[in-house]
Parts: sequence; structure tokens; C-alpha cells
Amino acid sequence: MQLRYPRSFLALLLIGFFIVALPLIAGLVSNALSIERLSVQSQQAVYNATLATQNARQLAALSLAMERSARFYAVAGEREMVESYKKSRVTFQALLAQFLALPSTPLAPDLRASAEAAQLTENAVFTSLTTKSSSPQLAKQLERDFAELSMRMESLTGLSNQLVEQEVGTLRAAATKSKNQVLWQLLAIIPSALLMIAGFTYLLARPVRELGIAIHRLGEGKLARRIQVSGPHDIEQLGEQLDWLRQRLITLEDQKTRFFQHVSHELKTPLTALREGSELLTDGVVGPLTSEQREVAEILRQNSLTLEKLIQDLLTYSQAQSADRLNQKTALDIQPLQLKDLIDEVVATQKIAMVAKVITLKLDCDKTTMQGDAAKLRVVIDNLLSNSIKYSPVGGTVAIRLGKHKDNAVLEVIDNGPGIAAEDREKIFDPFYRSKTAVSSGTKGTGLGLAIVRDYVEMHRGTVSVIAAAGARFRVILPKQIPQNR
Ligand code: ADP
Repeated sequence: MQLRYPRSFLALLLIGFFIVALPLIAGLVSNALSIERLSVQSQQAVYNATLATQNARQLAALSLAMERSARFYAVAGEREMVESYKKSRVTFQALLAQFLALPSTPLAPDLRASAEAAQLTENAVFTSLTTKSSSPQLAKQLERDFAELSMRMESLTGLSNQLVEQEVGTLRAAATKSKNQVLWQLLAIIPSALLMIAGFTYLLARPVRELGIAIHRLGEGKLARRIQVSGPHDIEQLGEQLDWLRQRLITLEDQKTRFFQHVSHELKTPLTALREGSELLTDGVVGPLTSEQREVAEILRQNSLTLEKLIQDLLTYSQAQSADRLNQKTALDIQPLQLKDLIDEVVATQKIAMVAKVITLKLDCDKTTMQGDAAKLRVVIDNLLSNSIKYSPVGGTVAIRLGKHKDNAVLEVIDNGPGIAAEDREKIFDPFYRSKTAVSSGTKGTGLGLAIVRDYVEMHRGTVSVIAAAGARFRVILPKQIPQNR
């Protein structure tokens, strides 16, 4: 299911808060309701219990007083006793009536029945008292009636005590039920709230992370991939603005490369004329030169050669950078090739330089077929070998090894020159970086050769590194098949 983001980041944040808070609010409301229910229930229970026990106690006391008055009347025949009985009776009946009106509890029918029976017995006593005059027979009958009434009172007291226990039991059960209900709610609410928090954190963090990645890619100069951020509308718009920025950078990159090409072309033509002119002079084609003149002509030729190389390196480096930024697959002309053949070709072109410095070359190359851009790999080998020759002492040894490891071709170029200091091992691949020893020894160079090597190797998804050794030892690892996800 495709989730639709709200229009703004703020709205997403508020919706997130609301949805996460919703189950918590529902839980709180439900808890408040169950506490309210419990409190009403306990109030009712306390009311019932106190009413029943107090009434039962009062009724027992009243029935004793009434018995005394009635019996006194039966024996002595004093009418005031009947009046006193009548007074007590009013309260007695009123209290019994309260039992009859008791709100529904499981014991209410029993209590009601007992109260009704007590009413009937008392009514009989009252009729006897008002209709009969004092006599031993009346005394006897009253004794029987009050014995029955006292039995009723005991039953009422017993039932009232039972009612108290029952109400306490009901309350305890209700409290346990509420507690369990709260526990179950917590068990359901806490994980769901946590889940929702996790979900919203992801929804909020995802577009921000996408923006971060996009900005990082721009910063690294990787301009090939379109920037697309999915999220609230305002963040998506930010993504679109970043993509606009990316396109602007591509245009600038393009302009820079064209400018470079243009300038180098403009520089190269007169430079070539200068070099060729100085070569004609040194070769004596335009007439014999004195030794001083030849020296000047040679300096001119050397410097125009250096300048030509610098311009060529700059151009190559700038093109490689642009191709890398725009991830142009076309920048590589990939074909099956034999790395060993490329090494042989490069060695042939460097022969004169090696002879000039009396360098011994040791070749130890396996035949390794791989996919790659022959022209660029030739530049890689050429730059590494020419550095080795350049930085080797006269009469030094340079070794080239080519082998296989898993799905990679492994090329090593080794020399017994001054080597590379540990702190320079990463820096020498930076453009224009030249080590202090290289600068102080007066060796000519632009500091671009290894930067180009690294660019070309990385375009092939390979790595180049310096291995700690007595002299310099460069190792290039190239996958035989370039992975598709470039
Ligand atoms: P450069 O034109 O200066 O040779 P590179 O990019 O080819 O530029 O090399 C960068 C630096 O790496 C050099 O200035 C040098 O200090 C160091 N370097 C490269 N190859 C070697 C080597 N074979 N032996 C010693 N130092 C080397």
C-alpha cells in the first residue's frame, strides 16, 4: 500500500503525535471510567452494609424495649406501657420498612422476607396488646410472640452480617477486575504506542535522511543520479531544489571541461610549434649552433616538453573527473583485453628512459584476460612505470608483477628508489600533491600522475594502494569483470 504523506513536515509531526497519543488517551479515559464505576459501587456497598447492620442492631434493642413494655402491661395492666410500646413501635416499623426498600443485592430477598415476617409477628403483638386486657394468658402469648420476634431479629442480624461480607467480596472482585482490565490495557497500549512511535520516527527520519544523502552526494561531486526525496510536500520541494542545484552543477562541470579543452588546445598549438622549433635548432637542421646556443635550445625543448605533459595531464585529469562526477559509462570503452600485452606495450615505450638510467627491469606476468578500457589501463601502467623509473637511482631495479587473486587481476610495480614515507601513502594520490623528497630532489613532475591512476582504476571499480616496502611498491587490484551497478 502506498502511504500518502501530508503536505507539510509540521503536519506529519502533529499527526504523528496525535496518533501516538490516541491509545494513551483512550487508556486514560477508560481507566478513569472504571475507577468512577468502582467508586460508585463501593459507595453503594458501604451504604447497604452500614444500613443493614445499624438497623439490625437498633431493631434488636427496640424489640427488647418493646418486649419489656408489653410484658409489663400483661402483668400490671398499666396503659402507659402500651403507649410507650406504641412509640417504640413506630421506629421499629420504620426501620423494618428500610429493609424492605433495600436496593437490589443478592441477599435482599432474604432480608426482605425476614423483615416481613418480623412485621407480621410485631403486628400480632400489637393487636393483642390493643385488644386484650392484662392476664396470665396474654403474658404467655406475648412470651411466645417475642420469642419468635427475637428469632426474626437474630435472623436479620445474621443476614446483615452476611450482607457486609458479601458486599466486601463483591467490592474485592470488582477491584481485581478493574486491576486486570488496566493491566491488559497497558499490555496492549504500550507495545502499540511503541510500534507507532517507531513507525512515525521512520516516516519522519526517512525524508531527512534522503536529503542528507543527496547533499552528501552533491558534496562528493557525484552528480549522475537524479535527486528524488519522498516525504511531505515541503520536503519533496526541497529535494526538487537540490535536484535543480545538481543540474546547475552539471552545467558548470560541462562548461569547465569545455573551457579546459579549449584553453589546452589553444596552448598546445603554439607549444608544439615551440618544441618543434627548438628540436630543429638542437638537431642543427637550421644551421650549426655553438655549444651555448645548443644548451639554450635544449632548455627550451625540455621546458616545452614539460609544459606539453602538464597540459596533457591537466586535460586528462579534468576529463576523468567530469566523467566520474556524471557517472558516464561511456567514459570507459570496455573490451576484453590482456593486461600482459598492455604492460609489454608500455615497457616498449619506456625502453629509452630505462636505458638512459641503466634500470634493470624484471617482468613476472601471468596472462590475465579481463574486461577494461585498454587506453586508460595503459595510462595507469605508464604512469606507475614512469614514476618508478623517474624516482629510481641510476642502475636501480624495477619489477612488474601481474597475477590473479579470486576474480581480480593484481598488478604490482616495484622499485628500489627512496620509497614513499608512511604519512605520504594516501596523500600522493591527491591531485598536485608531491612529496617533499620528490620536490627537494628536483625531480620534475606535476603531481597529477597518481591522481589520474586512481581515477582510472576506480572507474574500473578497482583499488590502488602503496604497500610498505623498502622502495616504492604500488598494488593495483582490478576486477576482471566490471560490476554493472556503477
Ligand atoms: P609526479 O608528477 O610528481 O610524479 P605523481 O602523481 O605521479 O606526480 O606522484 C605523486 C608523488 O608521489 C610524487 O611527487 C612522489 O613524491 C611520489 N611518488 C610517486 N611514485 C613514486 C615512486 N615510484 N617512488 C617514490 N615516490 C613516488
